[in-house]
Amino acid sequence: MDCLTFRKNINAYFAKSLSDDELNEFLRHLSQCETCREELEINFIVSEGIGILEEENHDYNISRAYESMLQKDRRHIQVIRVVRVFTYAMDTLCFWSILFCGLLFLHILIFR
Ligand SMILES: [Zn+2]
Repeated sequence: MDCLTFRKNINAYFAKSLSDDELNEFLRHLSQCETCREELEINFIVSEGIGILEEENHDYNISRAYESMLQKDRRHIQVIRVVRVFTYAMDTLCFWSILFCGLLFLHILIFR
């Protein structure tokens, strides 16, 4: 993802409308680009920070809220990665199990 695409996706990020793959690319670019990190933080303070200040709980630490949001999204991406690896492992296990059962069945038919 380049800086222009990143900036186009900032509103979608705040609206939580990025797909998991888009979110992964978004966070990857964020970790590599200081300019976009600053851009996102400024956008967060302007768009989300005002809403936080109006909440009942009055947590005025916007930087902490910003870091908390990023932390939560990074955890989400990590969970998605684990689920994908688990799904891939289960698919592979199912494939080899079915193949093994088929070969065992043929062996029984031929050599009984
Ligand atoms: Zn950038």
